[in-house]
Amino acid sequence: MTGPQRIAILGTPSAPEAEWTSAALLGLVDRGFTGIQLNIAWSYRPADEVLNLEDLVPVPGAPPSRAAEGGAGNDRRAELIATRARLAHAAGLRTLLHIGLPYQGRAGFDGDPLPQCISDPATLHRYQRAFEELSARIPDLDDLLIYTYDQDAWLCSEFDGCDACRGVPLHERLAPFLRALADTWQRRRPGARLWWEPWELSAGQALATIQRLAGAPLGLMLHSNIGEVISVDAADTFLRNAARTAQAAGLPVIAEVFLSSSNEEVEPWRHLPVPLVTVAQLRAVEAVPGVAGVKEYFGLRPDPLDVNALAADAYFADPAITDEHVLQQLAQIFDRPWLADVWRAASDAYTVYPWDASWFTRQLGRSQPVHALTAATIRGAQTAASAWDTPAWRSTRHSVFMRVDNTEPHPWLLEDVQLRCQLAADSMASAVRLLEDRLLDEADAPSAHLRSQAAEMRGFITRARAHALHIRITVLAALARQSGAGRVRHRILAEIRELLDADATNQSEELAQGPLPEDEARGSALQRAERWVVDRRTDVGLIQQAIATLDRDPTAFLEQYFTAASGVAEAGQFSLTSR
Ligand SMILES: [Zn+2]
Repeated sequence: MTGPQRIAILGTPSAPEAEWTSAALLGLVDRGFTGIQLNIAWSYRPADEVLNLEDLVPVPGAPPSRAAEGGAGNDRRAELIATRARLAHAAGLRTLLHIGLPYQGRAGFDGDPLPQCISDPATLHRYQRAFEELSARIPDLDDLLIYTYDQDAWLCSEFDGCDACRGVPLHERLAPFLRALADTWQRRRPGARLWWEPWELSAGQALATIQRLAGAPLGLMLHSNIGEVISVDAADTFLRNAARTAQAAGLPVIAEVFLSSSNEEVEPWRHLPVPLVTVAQLRAVEAVPGVAGVKEYFGLRPDPLDVNALAADAYFADPAITDEHVLQQLAQIFDRPWLADVWRAASDAYTVYPWDASWFTRQLGRSQPVHALTAATIRGAQTAASAWDTPAWRSTRHSVFMRVDNTEPHPWLLEDVQLRCQLAADSMASAVRLLEDRLLDEADAPSAHLRSQAAEMRGFITRARAHALHIRITVLAALARQSGAGRVRHRILAEIRELLDADATNQSEELAQGPLPEDEARGSALQRAERWVVDRRTDVGLIQQAIATLDRDPTAFLEQYFTAASGVAEAGQFSLTSR
């Protein structure tokens, strides 16, 4: 392998249907991609995309596949992956299959006893046999990427797992398991590699495991930050430590990043133009010694005017390119030099947004500006399961996200998020004004694309403003309750009244945008069950009632509204401030 590796994914979890054609694959090669992941591999299995080995070949002794038709669909799915791999090789792309193992069904997420354990030699043997069958079924498959947590995989805890694992640190169990799998794969595919993603391990566990893998035919696939793929905080301390440890162990590292406007941070949006964020992220991870390239983490859609994807292309063509040249090149494609200022301001807005407040700042397009009317919080954990019980969530992730549980936040923490949301909204508002002032009602493709960009920029503003207003009203309502009947309370109530008006206006502006296309808004059964996707909240009458109550009887308002309540994800998991 010479030159940096750049690995693509066709289709995304929220728009999984993709054209696996020679033309599409050759287009990726033209853009600088060197490899492709053959499946989308996303937890909720969009479009029955493969998630586990059990979805392709029999793994006797493992739980049954949760894919459509279970194991009965294996031949169909294996044929599909084999066809994709053949087409990818014909286009000159290296191929990678992404799977989670040991596969546990949903037992790990649900806190149930795990059906498979890597301390049991039978677990290793069944996956070694399955690797051999996989290699026979998909002759054009080069590399494997395995997750050992998440993606329906899970590992025994040293503290409450099975008897064999009790008291045995995870890295001592995991390193020999991974090494044996990597050896098996390399015997079947000389020159190929097993890539391991240490997702959900603590930094300490991951580093200790990497050290024990020295010399194995293995590589590391790492999120750009130990908390997640985080575009504005790529190449964190963990990534740098892991890459250095891997380099000493002779293992290559690939960093996972977002290369387009369709990504998990803004899902299910597809047009938010923040090209300087895309380029900064690429520069950050590729500057880390030991990083051999990048892999798209979410997916790519065929969109010749996706500004973030075009920025990635410009970087791939010239990694030394400056921000100003990126913006000039993109603006030239749209034949409107003034767009450089729009996209610079939009990138600034995105960068100042408080992505570090909580994991639930993500999936911004799913946040509901018609927020709950109980007290604002910053949601730190999923309410149904209260928390994901993995090493990373109990340790290192606390250094990435300010909130990892749903305890009552301090008002200064609330204010921090409020102020950064407000700054982000103001910066995006300046960007969208620049755009709308000059955007004519033309029918050409760039104009249509720019209108889509403007719509998502306005969506960014209404969401950020909803968070800021919800928080400020909550903090003031608490202060009003503590104040006597005098001037201070009067002043605070007057500010609350103004903010409620602004909040109602913001909600109306959001609703004036119209809903997402139905296929993007629907979500999967699992997404709906876990309230990752909820129906669009459209009742602006609720906040009007709150205003009427305040006008009629302030004491009743303070008793009824913006009070603490138990968390039910009323407005969905990604409505950050709603309980
Ligand atoms: Zn065990």
